[in-house]
Amino acid sequence: MNKEYKMCSVCVMDTTDKFITFDDNGVCNHCKQYKQIKDTLINDSCEKEKELQKIIDKIKKSGENRRYDCIVGISGGVDSSYVAYLAKQWGLRALLVHLDNGWNSELAVKNVENIVKYTGFDLYTLVIDWEEFKDLQRSFFKADVIDLELLSDHAIFTTVRKLTRKYNIRYLLSGENFETEAILPKSWNWRKSDAANIKSIHKKFGSKKLKTFPFMGTIKKRFYQYTGVSQSISILNYIDYNKQTVMAILKDKMDWKYYGGKHYESIFTRFYQGVILPKKFKIDKRCAHLSTLINSDQIKRDEALLLLKEEPYPKELQEEDFNLVCKKLDFSEDELNNYLNRPGKSHLEYKSDEFIFNLLRRVYHFFNLKKIIN
Ligand SMILES: [Zn+2]
Repeated sequence: MNKEYKMCSVCVMDTTDKFITFDDNGVCNHCKQYKQIKDTLINDSCEKEKELQKIIDKIKKSGENRRYDCIVGISGGVDSSYVAYLAKQWGLRALLVHLDNGWNSELAVKNVENIVKYTGFDLYTLVIDWEEFKDLQRSFFKADVIDLELLSDHAIFTTVRKLTRKYNIRYLLSGENFETEAILPKSWNWRKSDAANIKSIHKKFGSKKLKTFPFMGTIKKRFYQYTGVSQSISILNYIDYNKQTVMAILKDKMDWKYYGGKHYESIFTRFYQGVILPKKFKIDKRCAHLSTLINSDQIKRDEALLLLKEEPYPKELQEEDFNLVCKKLDFSEDELNNYLNRPGKSHLEYKSDEFIFNLLRRVYHFFNLKKIIN
């Protein structure tokens, strides 16, 4: 790191985000951006409620004479579980979609079962062929790129988009939300629609032919997005979203259980965020999450600093996960240690459809297509 170490005076983001900037008062660009975006959202509870009702009506209307009103992707985690719970409360007929990539924790699987039981919604589980997924994951480790979650995220959004077409569903209710997820530096992950990047990395490092892994290129994804054929709605932005309150509701109503950290419902994600990112990429993802919670007044900065002094999750469990990752992905301990100790590489060292993505984005903004579509 060339820059001198510095932490924001309001949140806990620091110079481990290599693009972070600070103003004269030591406030970072993420805090500023948080405020700017918050000003564009509806913040008054009454107004939010009215807007939410309009959205629910619109979704119900779109589902008339169809089997489902909307799709909800569920991982067993807090945000998506709560979206499923709300969909039930609002009387929507949702199709639940869940990804089984071979890494789900028992708790996550149990949570998904309980959500299905409580809501009575149909569940579509995408079971990814393990041998293919393993080959893809091994390729991504060998490529040293940062976004190891690109594979699962790409598979789930592709599947969801395909299901919207199959059942003629217009709306996807997403668990993404501003109050707990607004801050995430761009350099900490990669664009999830970049099928070209996945294929290029696999071509270089993989050893198996991919026959079933669900791919969707940027052009197709943008088509769905820009034409409004399927629309993703971050529905949690229309309610007052407080994580602690929500977890209590989920526990009470659906016998839902917490798994110890943001996105730790997947064992792989737990190892990725708690071991790989800090060790190999010198990134503590909790900083981004906690900084969002500080900005949305759900935690104090001092509390966040104390939490950051602790290990992301217990050392013994980290070791257990280390062994499991070696076993499942056929790496020796030395190979995995070597991986953790060598520096990362940019996704752009491999082929990417970044050019097409940027071109489409420019066209979209130039013609102001959003206005035309809506
Ligand atoms: Zn900040």
